[in-house]
Amino acid sequence: MNFYAMTLFPEIIENGMRASITGRALQKGIITLDTINIRDYSQNKHMRVDDYPYGGGAGMVMQAEPVYLAYQALCHRLRQEKVRVIYLTPQGQVFSQAMAQEFAKEEHLVFLCGHYEGIDERALEMVVTDYVSIGDYILTGGELPALVVMDAVSRLVPQVLNNEESAQFESFQDMLLEYPQYTRPEEFLGKKVPEVLLSGHHAKIEQWRREQSLIRTVTRRPDLLKENPYLTEKDKVYLEKYQKGQ
Ligand code: SAM
Repeated sequence: MNFYAMTLFPEIIENGMRASITGRALQKGIITLDTINIRDYSQNKHMRVDDYPYGGGAGMVMQAEPVYLAYQALCHRLRQEKVRVIYLTPQGQVFSQAMAQEFAKEEHLVFLCGHYEGIDERALEMVVTDYVSIGDYILTGGELPALVVMDAVSRLVPQVLNNEESAQFESFQDMLLEYPQYTRPEEFLGKKVPEVLLSGHHAKIEQWRREQSLIRTVTRRPDLLKENPYLTEKDKVYLEKYQKGQ
């Protein structure tokens, strides 16, 4: 998986990606990262990349030309006419695990990070293939959202996670939240680990975890249960019983 970030602040992306698990994957060459400073493509003698919005209004808008030139240079370098370009924007489709899985199939992924009031619409029309938001709130720039997407995609790339890190079941698999996790000691400030987890009885542990997942999802994210195709008849019966008992 090769990541490219077109940004005015490459250091945010570099610092975010070169630590921890993604940092190790970069070092091993399992994933690659190339940051492209949009400012390097400014044709202005003061290296400006933004200007006032036509029609008035507050803030500045990133100009189309440096964004487009940065994109063209990247296509040229990759010897591709078009590449998949994800524009991080609060106006995009809200990012999900399913989208991460879909992005993880690509060989190259380009992230376009806006700043100020955003990017001139004409450049977006020319280069963007996907509009992605990380939630209904406004950030100062697209770098943190790009890191969020890169991180979620990276951990789906084979060999990025080692055996200890790769969980068999994680939240959003089966559109359910993950069951609660415990580690040593068996008792902490008087609170004990649930007995079943110490029993060594795999089938019972599996069943307990599934039930905990269902309870967690119905209490914290009931929206995930609506039209959830992964619910078994046994799950539905358990949920009904649980809800009646509440
Ligand atoms: N004026 C824009 C609007 O109302 O849609 C918001 C611009 S925002 C201050 C600056 C940049 O931050 C955006 O171009 C985008 O790249 C990024 N950004 C802000 N919030 C985001 C979010 N929730 N998800 C993804 N990107 C976001």
